[in-house]
Amino acid sequence: MKKLVLIVAILIGVISCKNESKLGTKNNQNNSKKANFSIVIHGGAGYIKKENTSAEKEATYRAKLEEAIRVGYTILKNGGSSLDAVEKTLNVLEDSPLFNAGRGAVFTYSGENEHDASIMDGKTLNAGASAGTKVVKNPINLARAVMEKSPHVMLSQNGAEEFAKEQGLEIVDPSYFSEKGKSNYSDRTKTSEKNKTASFYNTEINDSKFGTVGCAALDINGNLAAGTSTGGMTNKRWGRIGDSPIIGAGTYANNNTCAVSSTGWGEYFIRGMVAYDISALMEYKNLTLKEASKKVIQDKLPKIGDGAGVGGIIAIDKNGNMVMEFNTPGMFRATMSDSGDIYIGMYND
Ligand code: ASP
Repeated sequence: MKKLVLIVAILIGVISCKNESKLGTKNNQNNSKKANFSIVIHGGAGYIKKENTSAEKEATYRAKLEEAIRVGYTILKNGGSSLDAVEKTLNVLEDSPLFNAGRGAVFTYSGENEHDASIMDGKTLNAGASAGTKVVKNPINLARAVMEKSPHVMLSQNGAEEFAKEQGLEIVDPSYFSEKGKSNYSDRTKTSEKNKTASFYNTEINDSKFGTVGCAALDINGNLAAGTSTGGMTNKRWGRIGDSPIIGAGTYANNNTCAVSSTGWGEYFIRGMVAYDISALMEYKNLTLKEASKKVIQDKLPKIGDGAGVGGIIAIDKNGNMVMEFNTPGMFRATMSDSGDIYIGMYND
């Protein structure tokens, strides 16, 4: 009898361990072990569905996500800082025409490309952001320069570009972002053209892929950092700025809690102070990163604007647990932990 009880106990133990590691794979929420370093990225949340995506397109996105996250992973593995990992990882995604950031930025109402970006250092709570720039090749580098080389947190438009030039950052002709053939030009203009006469807030835009890029990382010194870079929302006008360059909405990092990067309909992320809200729920209510992210993205955000608060976040806590939470059909995303295990996802699976 005793033997039987022992065997049953062992079997239950084995089954529950298996289930835990399955869950861990999806959201890397294995709280039992502290990771030395880890990194998580997103390439935008939106209407990303398997049935609408060709195998070829899926492979292209997966390859770029993998290339990007491996850059950050290698930096962290070699003892580099989370800030460097975030910046260099985002550079890969900004240089790709696949995402709505840097080179692949969507078109504004007047047919231009305007970029927003932000970065935050979880150790010092220092932060930098840039908004509405049109000629800076890598807006995340500008955000970092604002953080480290200026007394300010956010610079915008002409002034931000003047500062970027002074800092020796790479400046490009606006055509770099719009050239046909070099980018997903037709995808990006199609929506813009169709919506020229329509309101910004229509379902077509609501349904389109947003495509912002973001990264959060924990380095071996226990420092968290997060960054976000975007072309904003298709058809935006009047110098519209979304959540991506707003510290607390699009990006937040605090070594005591977590590092977060958001993507989705920016107006709602600003109103919900999404990135900071997740950190605050951890700090003041002792929620885990997973609980806090779920609460904000699945419960609080959709209630703002009667269900229009769509999007997601990627985040990492001080123990290296990673979360990718979204309320849209899909989100481009990937994680890597110090074990070298890689996860890449696109759909709601
Ligand atoms: N949050 C961005 C914005 O509203 C868009 C996105 O994430 O794709 O500007």
